[in-house]
Amino acid sequence: MSAVIELQNIYKTYQMEKVEVNAVAKASFSITEGDFAAISGPSGSGKSTLLNMIGLIDLPTSGKIILNGTDVYGSMELSKNTKVPHKLDSMLTELRRRNLGFIFQTFNLIPVLNVYENVEFPLKIGSSPATETLNAAGRREWIDFLIETVGLTAWKTHKPSELSGGQRQRVAIARALVTKAPIILADEPTANLDSKNGDQILELMKKLNEDLKTTFVFSTHDAKIVGMANHVIKISDGHILSA
Ligand code: ADP
Ligand code: MG
Repeated sequence: MSAVIELQNIYKTYQMEKVEVNAVAKASFSITEGDFAAISGPSGSGKSTLLNMIGLIDLPTSGKIILNGTDVYGSMELSKNTKVPHKLDSMLTELRRRNLGFIFQTFNLIPVLNVYENVEFPLKIGSSPATETLNAAGRREWIDFLIETVGLTAWKTHKPSELSGGQRQRVAIARALVTKAPIILADEPTANLDSKNGDQILELMKKLNEDLKTTFVFSTHDAKIVGMANHVIKISDGHILSA
């Protein structure tokens, strides 16, 4: 199995008043294709910072990120003050579109769209390489299949406000999968759910990991759900303790 994500000596440094703070320091590890990987650590340890860099949302201050064989920043000069130049921005968007799906702690559904339309949304804003060959009927079938898989067929025409937290996160999972991205990143996907719903969401993610062979990387401070991962990356104070 090959590495789909590789971090080499990644730092994220913030300037606080006169001191520099490393939110993440010296992070080196890889995620293997098919992993169900947990980034585990207490609040403030750097989990979101790490996931945002893996998700190409935040630039590292230094280091290398290799995503599915692409050295994302190549020979580019990175520093604390690096802003994303326009050309890089479109390249990052393209890399995200081909490779990554996102699940958020707060679900981030679009309130005016129903379940079906929320799941469909990423395909509307730009089809991904894996879905652009689908015709309209194939697309509908794929969206219906995902909604069925997350157990929401009866709720297809309902708006997010009519759903429970657990159901909302199921919609978000189907939406993350709709572009057939090979890697799904989830930042504390169960933190806003009670433990029963949280467990069910993790079990659903695990099932999708097994059935669709999608790689998952999720962060959590909950020791119990860490146990479901096949690969645990422990972080404390910005430092990787084990990976
Ligand atoms: P976690 O997700 O594990 O709770 P974070 O990645 O959010 O941790 O934060 C790690 C550390 O980096 C914290 O000390 C936090 O205060 C700091 N940090 C995160 N984002 C910023 C920022 N934009 N500016 C300054 N410090 C930040
Ligand atoms: Mg966080």
